[in-house]
Amino acid sequence: MMTNASLLILPGDGIGPEVMTEVRKVIDWYGPKRGLTFDVSEDLVGGAAYDTHGTPLHDDTMAKAQEVDAVLLGAVGGPKYDVLDFSVKPERGLLRLRKEMDLFANLRPAQCFDALADFSSLKKDVVAGLDIMIVRELTSGIYFGEPRGIIEEGNERVGINTQRYTESEIDRVARSAFDLARKRGNKVCSMEKANVMESGILWREVVQRVHDEDYPDVELSHMYADAGAMQLCRWPKQFDVIVTDNLFGDLLSDAAAMLTGSLGMLPSASLGAPMSNGRPKALYEPVHGSAPDIAGQGKANPIACILSFAMALRYSFDQGEEATRLEAAVETVLADGARTADLMGPDGGTPMSTAKMGDAIVAALDASL
Ligand code: NAD
Repeated sequence: MMTNASLLILPGDGIGPEVMTEVRKVIDWYGPKRGLTFDVSEDLVGGAAYDTHGTPLHDDTMAKAQEVDAVLLGAVGGPKYDVLDFSVKPERGLLRLRKEMDLFANLRPAQCFDALADFSSLKKDVVAGLDIMIVRELTSGIYFGEPRGIIEEGNERVGINTQRYTESEIDRVARSAFDLARKRGNKVCSMEKANVMESGILWREVVQRVHDEDYPDVELSHMYADAGAMQLCRWPKQFDVIVTDNLFGDLLSDAAAMLTGSLGMLPSASLGAPMSNGRPKALYEPVHGSAPDIAGQGKANPIACILSFAMALRYSFDQGEEATRLEAAVETVLADGARTADLMGPDGGTPMSTAKMGDAIVAALDASL
């Protein structure tokens, strides 16, 4: 029995509420069937919050997010809000959460379920069974470094961005990666460009020091990020956890995600510093957006959001075995041929609805007991 597990659910816009309804079925299953009860609260974010409060994230919601053990978000945005001023656009709600919770480690798994291996653009044997995790530093680096801007120099303009990392910023994201590796395959590959960038030299030194001092049991290797990109396409299964900076992580995590097929399958987590109870500040969300083209039609694939909850079980609630149970349930329904519209191959067939996919996963959980 787990106690004091608080979870704030922010369904958001578009397909967000639809996929979250299916996650609620899973959460409700864990209470009676596994003795895992959560103190769940629900609130508004994005366009839904704007419609009610005139802001994409109310201060009370922000305060709640700071207090709970984990936040689970659906998606934000939609054409209705495109005309809004930048300061109140739905995405600002999500950015405020990430910023004020100081979520510096973005976890993007690239996991290929065997039943979907044909969806990859790579050969089946290269991706079948793939299970890697990219840890991207999320709050510093070239997207934030100063000086930045476009300046006049002589008779032309110059665009400037600055790659800047402090030792403590590298230290904390390296620790996140090593901690994660201990819960998985116990291997970390750190990627930078130490051959041409001073920030890369410092990155490599700090990661190595953190390893030698506190994580000597974890296998550590270093790779230049361009070589890493090639290796990800050549033989991705050589990796377990990859840790890298904000810019390289942005590119590498998207590339790795596409090794596995549909956007409807991809979960993510963003973690910050440990709170007083030892759990990290945490926001879990599917990688996909609000998919306005299919919203309200029962076509959305809820698996990305359900797998985001599995990540919460593993990384916030220390329930690794239950996370594995949930991932195995997803694997089972896929192996049985269950497919939402986004997972239909060229051979056609009849896709199942969002709700039916949720029900099938709950049934597979039942069968796992
Ligand atoms: P999107 O991810 O919403 O959709 C891209 C395509 O993938 C669409 O064809 C959509 O139908 C499909 N798709 C996405 N998720 C799916 C799912 N679970 N099941 C089945 N199909 C799925 O990206 P977009 O169309 O570029 O953006 C739509 C809106 O979402 C925009 O307002 C954008 O700003 C916002 N957005 C939000 C987030 C977020 O909340 N984290 C992320 C990306 C985009």
